[in-house]
Amino acid sequence: EIKLAKRVLALSPSPTLAITAKAKELQDQGLGIIGLGAGEPDFNTPEHILHAAKKSMDEGLTKYTPSAGLPALKKAIIEKFSRDQGISYRMNEVIVGNGAKHILYTLFQVLLDEGDEVIIPAPYWVSYPEQVKLAGGLPAIVECTEENEYKITPEQLKASINEKTKAVIINSPGNPTGMVYSREELKAIGEICLKHNILIVSDEIYEKLIYGNQTHVSIAELSSELKEQTIIVNGVSKSHSMTGWRIGYAAGKKEVIEAMTNLASHSTSNPTTTAQYAAIAAYNGTQEPVEVMRRAFESRLETIYSKLTAIPGFSCVKPQGAFYLFPNIKDAVEKCGFKDADEFSEALLTDVQVAVVPGSGFGAPDNIRLSYATSLDQLEEAIRRIGKFVEEKM
Ligand code: PLP
Repeated sequence: EIKLAKRVLALSPSPTLAITAKAKELQDQGLGIIGLGAGEPDFNTPEHILHAAKKSMDEGLTKYTPSAGLPALKKAIIEKFSRDQGISYRMNEVIVGNGAKHILYTLFQVLLDEGDEVIIPAPYWVSYPEQVKLAGGLPAIVECTEENEYKITPEQLKASINEKTKAVIINSPGNPTGMVYSREELKAIGEICLKHNILIVSDEIYEKLIYGNQTHVSIAELSSELKEQTIIVNGVSKSHSMTGWRIGYAAGKKEVIEAMTNLASHSTSNPTTTAQYAAIAAYNGTQEPVEVMRRAFESRLETIYSKLTAIPGFSCVKPQGAFYLFPNIKDAVEKCGFKDADEFSEALLTDVQVAVVPGSGFGAPDNIRLSYATSLDQLEEAIRRIGKFVEEKM
């Protein structure tokens, strides 16, 4: 028997895995499953990006690149920051990595010493606590309320700071809630972080998927002090429908980026060269496809939101970004006689063949997550089935 390292034994498996495995099993039995578990846009990568990738390969550009990414890509990212956020970064303040997920992993590895705490507002993206633990840190989970749109308040932030606190994660627009922090909210959070010297990890991967009259504000753009205090994490996965290309990046103080680059030089060497050429086209080319996808998500949200909230025992703060609905279904779970939302989700899959992700893995056991990165027909059918399921069980 092989004895595995303690650090992996402490890892929690991805909560989406169990339901995905079950969904696949039922699919193989020939049952028509509607999967609402996906965390990726259902569009093809735009044509001009594919073309740039193919062209680079034809030109023989298929070798190692600098560990922190091609200078041309870093330039394109720096221009994106200046265009969208009005902030300027130097070349040594940006690192490109193999997806935002791996960038976050590398970031926590270089920031955290054993026992350092990272404040993580819940509901949170499933990988944050695991990545913090893998770096020897301690996740300090702060439960955010539905009344406050699942966002951390300045009071909650202040109350969770102690001498071990190293950083706080702000994810806006957020996965799984779709909530967006306003300029004022970020300003209040920023002031506290500056006062207590807490670093801000700002995960802005859903920046371009934002609806209604909301706008994306990066906490780093609020002042030069906050820019210094913040490491922005972003990428092309969600904005340009490029999840499989694995390109993400971080921008922040030189010392942090240098340390991350050193670590990358011994772990990944560089993000895939072809994918980097694709990402250059994503940022330097037309942004029209980004807006087309955004509008498609928004129109789906507008169509299905009221149908979802009409289901008895479901309540849902209306998402302002990303592509998830995160209803609180506590009432429905109780009235249908289930133990919890996990059990509810499993029955939903077995009885009416709709796969959703239970909220327990996101630190919100009363909720479920439904992705609307799928066709409107499928979404409407899924919600019809969920509604019927609840009404029959109640
Ligand atoms: N951050 C959040 C909040 C996410 O939801 C995801 C993807 O699901 C990522 C980061 C990672 O994105 P990627 O590694 O595809 O760039």
